[in-house]
Amino acid sequence: MSDCIFCRIINNEIPSNKVYEDEHVVAFKDIDPLAAVHIVVVPKTCCLHFHKTEDNILAHIMSAIKKIVVEQDLVDKGYRLVNNNGIDGGQTVDHVHFHILGGEKLGSNLTG
Ligand code: 5GP
Repeated sequence: MSDCIFCRIINNEIPSNKVYEDEHVVAFKDIDPLAAVHIVVVPKTCCLHFHKTEDNILAHIMSAIKKIVVEQDLVDKGYRLVNNNGIDGGQTVDHVHFHILGGEKLGSNLTG
């Protein structure tokens, strides 16, 4: 069993509230939401950082995010994408991921 919490979510070893899944990507509701809508989007292939993730996987994640923001009804009022990397970037889970935040007027700080 993997130590990576997101790998365990991907493999259905622990429960999550999934909102999207395809062959390369899973998206689920954040367990500790920072906004009315807070979704975490992860590639199924575990990679630690954005800058180490293959371009084709990043492109697939971006394509999935475009679908998710439409499905979540976020496009009219807007949303925020956040990708934290490393210690200075505030990354707490060592599996590259993007946060989608929205569903309310967000503050000016950039955390996600
Ligand atoms: P980071 O700080 O690494 O950018 O974001 C990690 C995010 O994963 C946090 O917002 C945190 O709440 C979320 N998270 C951590 N563990 C779990 C979990 O077990 N389930 C879900 N759904 N989200 C998690």
